[in-house]
Amino acid sequence: MVAFRTLDGVEVKGRRVLVRVDFNVPMQDGRVSDATRIERGAVTIRELAGKGAKVVLLSHFGRPKGKPEAGLSLKPIAQALEGVLGQKVAFASDCIGPEAEAVVAALPEGGVALLENLRFHAEEEKNDPAFADALARLGELYVNDAFSCSHRAHASVVALAERLPAHAGRLLQAELEALEKALGGAARPAAALVGGAKVSTKLAVLGNLLDRVDALVIGGGMANTFLAAEGLKVGKSLCEPDLAQEARAIVERAQAKGVDILLPIDAVVAREFKPNATCRTVGVEEVGPEEMILDVGPKTVKDVTDKLAGCKTLLWNGPLGAFEVPPFDAATVAVAKAAAELTKAGKLVTVAGGGDTVAALAHAGVLESFSYVSTAGGAFLEWLEGKELPGIAALRPR
Ligand code: AMP
Repeated sequence: MVAFRTLDGVEVKGRRVLVRVDFNVPMQDGRVSDATRIERGAVTIRELAGKGAKVVLLSHFGRPKGKPEAGLSLKPIAQALEGVLGQKVAFASDCIGPEAEAVVAALPEGGVALLENLRFHAEEEKNDPAFADALARLGELYVNDAFSCSHRAHASVVALAERLPAHAGRLLQAELEALEKALGGAARPAAALVGGAKVSTKLAVLGNLLDRVDALVIGGGMANTFLAAEGLKVGKSLCEPDLAQEARAIVERAQAKGVDILLPIDAVVAREFKPNATCRTVGVEEVGPEEMILDVGPKTVKDVTDKLAGCKTLLWNGPLGAFEVPPFDAATVAVAKAAAELTKAGKLVTVAGGGDTVAALAHAGVLESFSYVSTAGGAFLEWLEGKELPGIAALRPR
């Protein structure tokens, strides 16, 4: 278990608490179009404000290249946050310096302020010590509530955490506890389902999972490389023949460790990748030279769902097929629904995240039924690779 300090028992009344949040939310025409991240972040803010802290929020937004950019101001987000919290949110047009200091000094107990985009300063992404000193002057305690940014050694995530007593916020805590339930401390047997486009982006993930699960389901475009490595013809399918040796090595390692690898046994193939293209379902040894594998077939779905029925934990990253284009969403939807039913019946802990996985599970309508779905893309994948995230390491008890 990763050791980290929570907010339990921390005296915050009257103290200035700097909270690193991820308010990098979708915006349209200068307005927040999806406030999910703000609503999730509000839990920690409400708790701190409710206990009489002076809450100072830090976030990045977009990629402003180290200098102010009007379109990337956090100001509209302060307004959206006011709506979510039902209280006034002060705003400072710079995250360091005299204006920020004045806004923070004027905060009453229970007050909330949002400071301007951290990335308006190039020093943020450089983990710059002087910039972190300037941020640290604004607070007495530091809280990281942004798992999605914790794989980056940026000043507001690492150097700042080293300068103040540092704690995990409730959102970060929930994320780490859910991830722990899915991997380090998972109930066994545990399965991982890894799909998505390319095996080249997931080699480290597969390598780490082999040490931690009892069954590994490989689907999506990346399964084609494994099939081709076994000598099967995959026609015009997405495939990385250069990685055949790596794919074989993964299968051999799995066999040596007693990890059950489930590869597709049938596939949905088409000559064109377009909605409702003419397609057929074939055994994986029957793919024609002009055809593309765009989804796994129903026999594979049954294989996978039967396996899941005997498991206690499922970790899911990546779709089983090209789910954005029907009918190639069928397998992803069917397995997601089966996993959701097992979760609802209390038989399976289901944790998912990374890349397009959230969109795929939302498409299947199971987001609410899974035990935990992480919206953190890069950080989730690095965690799946078994890497230590610098922002989490900085929260270790010292
Ligand atoms: P990733 O970001 O690696 O999880 O990849 C997700 C993408 O993989 C989605 O856009 C899917 O459309 C794509 N994908 C899944 N299966 C296939 C397939 N058999 N052929 C081509 N693309 C696929």
